[in-house]
Amino acid sequence: MNSKINVGIIGGGQLGMMMLQEANFDIASYTVLESSSDCPASPFCQNLIVGSLNNASAIEQLAAVSDVLTWEIEHINVEALIQLEANGKKIIPKPSVLKMIQDKGAQKLFFQENNVPTAPFELVDSSMLKGVDYSKFPQDKIVVKTRTGGYDGKGVSICNKTDVQNGNIPFEGSVLLEQFVADVLELAVIVAVDQHGKKSSFPSIEMYFNAQSNLVEFLYSPAQISVDVETKARQIAENVIEAFQSPGLFAVELFLTQSGEILVNEIAPRPHNSGHHTIEGCVTSQFAQLNRILLGQELGDTTLMQPSAMLNIVGPDNVVGGYQLENEETWKQQNDVFIHMYGKTETRPNRKLGHVTVIAETFEKLIERAEYVKENMTIIPS
Ligand code: ADP
Repeated sequence: MNSKINVGIIGGGQLGMMMLQEANFDIASYTVLESSSDCPASPFCQNLIVGSLNNASAIEQLAAVSDVLTWEIEHINVEALIQLEANGKKIIPKPSVLKMIQDKGAQKLFFQENNVPTAPFELVDSSMLKGVDYSKFPQDKIVVKTRTGGYDGKGVSICNKTDVQNGNIPFEGSVLLEQFVADVLELAVIVAVDQHGKKSSFPSIEMYFNAQSNLVEFLYSPAQISVDVETKARQIAENVIEAFQSPGLFAVELFLTQSGEILVNEIAPRPHNSGHHTIEGCVTSQFAQLNRILLGQELGDTTLMQPSAMLNIVGPDNVVGGYQLENEETWKQQNDVFIHMYGKTETRPNRKLGHVTVIAETFEKLIERAEYVKENMTIIPS
């Protein structure tokens, strides 16, 4: 080991890549564990261990060269982390938080036990749907979620209530039934907690999802909500993270209902797509903030410097394999558009290939510019 702080990141996708792009290499050295050597993070880290994120011995190998460990993806071997922490390894966030979040059912029970506002729910096995008391699901739709393994909307299905009552759902095994919250505004607040327990949150963002892919299509900050709602959203987000009693960076996804109620949907215990705009938009980005936490530093300033929007660059339906961003050089010359390509060699439909942040002096100009980018930025075969 060298005199620098050795940070180990489990996962070498775009989130790990952007953490490394915001790293302070004067004081820290980074090793990444990923199953493939040509992952997005690989050109930016000092060391890469090639191995499965579910393999305990690969995680132990990473731990052996790291002073502090974190992850950039939830679907990893959490039992190995729990064991390493019990043996004294510093792991941020706490593995027990990851274990709870890996199970959407356990996460909802945690919300309930800690008085966190969240949509009414029921945990049930898919074979027992006829025995459920449906009185807490007054709408004619019910949201059905697999308890484990889902991501980016996969594992979530909005079903007709009668289908659910008849046992017709697209998943098998343990599921979470959730009240369908109609016409919500989707918000997210990123909360950072340093190693001394000091907290700070980023201004909230407002998201829009693509109905077909269920990926975040657009997000804006500041969210177009009143100061009171913003304060309440940040307070609810900070309170739920407080209940974790863990350092780390967390994205709290929220629903703002028509009646002004704020409900916590779910939490990601890592940097999140809803915080990508912080690279250009905020004084400190979500990635720099997590690096600061891992290195034992004080939290940075989360002020939003100008209205910012973020659009994902995703693989279109008609291109598979080699690809390029049409007119990438021209786009890069714009001073209000910041392109982040993740270095993935191949595209497939709906694969996240990169993102673009748009900034503007006013919110109106921002929307106009973001709409223009959405309409005109295209992935084509290479
Ligand atoms: P994932 O973990 O895959 O992102 P989520 O639980 O966040 O899954 O659900 C994905 C999307 O489905 C949400 O962003 C929202 O648009 C919709 N959704 C989820 N739960 C509800 C709900 N209870 N009511 C209405 N829409 C919901």
